[in-house]
Parts: sequence; C-alpha cells; structure tokens
Amino acid sequence: MPVERIEIESVEPCFADETKIRITARIPMDVGDLLPYLNAILANATYVPDRPALTFTKGIRLVTVYPRKVTVAKADDIVDAERTLTWLAERINYCWEHRDEITPVFQRKVKIKPLDIYGLLPGTNCGECGERSCLAFALLLLQEKHRLVDCRPLFKSELKEKRKRLEEIVGALGLEG
Ligand code: SF4
Repeated sequence: MPVERIEIESVEPCFADETKIRITARIPMDVGDLLPYLNAILANATYVPDRPALTFTKGIRLVTVYPRKVTVAKADDIVDAERTLTWLAERINYCWEHRDEITPVFQRKVKIKPLDIYGLLPGTNCGECGERSCLAFALLLLQEKHRLVDCRPLFKSELKEKRKRLEEIVGALGLEG
C-alpha cells in the first residue's frame, strides 16, 4: 500500500448497454483482505466472501472488485472509467490507512433507495433545483444528474443534520456532493 494507479487492461462494449463500455483493470497488489472494509464504507455494496469479490454501483456504473482486478460496466468512456478507478484507488487507500478504526462488514447491507434520499430533502417541492418535486430530484441524484448543491434550500441552517446525513450517503455511494 498505497495503490497509486489501477491500470486498464481491456475495454469491451458493455453487454447491458451498447452505448457504454466495460473495462477490466489490474490492481497492483492483493486487496482481498480489504474488501470487507470497503464494504463497510460503501453503500449498496455486496460482499461475496467465497470468491472473494465486492460489487457495488457508482451512479449507474457497476463496479466489481476482486483481490487483484476490477471490472467497471456501464462506464461512459475511457475517461469516465479512469475517473472511477482513481476514486476506487483513493477508497482502497483510505481503508488501508483507517483499518484500525473501520469495523469490517462481511454481510450484505441494506440498499439505499430514492425514498431514503427523499426523506432527508426539504420536501417542499419548491422547484429551485429545476425539478417538479423533491422525489424527482432524489431519483436524479442517484443517477448523477444532480448534486446536493443543486438543492439550495437544503443549505439552510435548520437542515444541517439532514444535509450532513445526505452528504454521508452520497459519499458512501461514490457520488459527487
Ligand atoms: S430545490 Fe430542493 S426542496 Fe426544492 S424541489 Fe428541489 S429538492 Fe426539493
């Protein structure tokens, strides 16, 4: 450790969406022991101990991490895939540096749904974000078509606790706040 760079080894069309790509990349060291730690800090992740492997979504991308390799499906293009791999390397390094403070999780976790996001938004359907409702905003936030900063009412001082919780969720989902 640390993982400085995760290099792309192959690029194919994505099976699930022909407008996207699927890449396979090599992790320069064995991160198998860190997968339960990544599972602990990432939302919507599924850890499969027998393989071992960890699968999660980052926006619409489907990422699967194995001890020595990673696949990213539904990436827009190489730049998008590289950005995802840089983010993943940072998360792996964070787990390594903070492994004494993180409790590893070996089970599947509860999935974050749009209604979980909606419940923390102001709920006024004011339209300032350009959407007709807070629920529409929640759905589009999970698709990376909005960021939390697009909801200005959320930044009122009385909503500080809800905003903090949303920032934690967005961070765990690998989305930009
Ligand atoms: S700006 Fe915020 S409060 Fe207003 S509709 Fe959008 S998400 Fe809801």
